[in-house]
Amino acid sequence: MTRNTVLKLTGVERHYGQGETVLTILKGADFSLSRGEMVALVAPSGTGKSTLLHLAGLLEQPDAGEVSINGQLCNGLPDQKRTAIRRSEIGFVYQFHHLLPEFSALENIMIPQMIDGLSKAEAKTRASQLLDYMRIGHRGTHRPAELSGGEQQRVAIARAVANAPRLLLADEPTGNLDPGTANYVFDALEALVRQSGLAALIATHNHELASRMDRRVTISEGKVVDF
Ligand code: ADP
Ligand code: MG
Repeated sequence: MTRNTVLKLTGVERHYGQGETVLTILKGADFSLSRGEMVALVAPSGTGKSTLLHLAGLLEQPDAGEVSINGQLCNGLPDQKRTAIRRSEIGFVYQFHHLLPEFSALENIMIPQMIDGLSKAEAKTRASQLLDYMRIGHRGTHRPAELSGGEQQRVAIARAVANAPRLLLADEPTGNLDPGTANYVFDALEALVRQSGLAALIATHNHELASRMDRRVTISEGKVVDF
């Protein structure tokens, strides 16, 4: 593993089910992602994209194999430690924004920073900068329900990077948006990744967006393969 490897999966296996019906999703999956690299994960529904992202994001444990983040092997770490790594090193964006409905856009981006130990004032300054960067600075006081789908996703992206993670995982982040809005949101996401040197793994069904990334991978017979 080089110093620039942010995410490394080695021989990862994931099976679902019990007894006689075992569904094998990943079997001997290897994958690595370097600093500054933006990789598209393109595969049909049900092949295991979300499973792969959850394993990479330490939201699930593999049945076998290793998951390393920034050179640290994360299998078998206590939950508390995994949570700490997730909070400071990993940003996650979902297809649906999952913003907290009772809080403003600004507050949604401040909360993870305050949990991570920043003062309210520091968190607010960074949240405002991120909203400006995502070109929705003027929407900071609005709650999620008052924002359009594209705006909600831009807030969700800003929240994901609020703690300056090194790894960004996105699970069909534009899958719920019309093509024009998807493009606009992806432009902002791409600019953010390029500017920050984040490593990003982004599941998408959109081939045009996939073609703009550095590399494209799919899941085939339980393995991650370039295509
Ligand atoms: P994708 O994101 O590519 O659509 P998923 O990773 O969500 O695929 O799911 C891959 C397969 O694993 C699907 O067949 C799904 O039904 C199954 N699966 C996912 N999570 C679970 C679970 N917790 N229990 C049982 N089966 C699951
Ligand atoms: Mg999925």
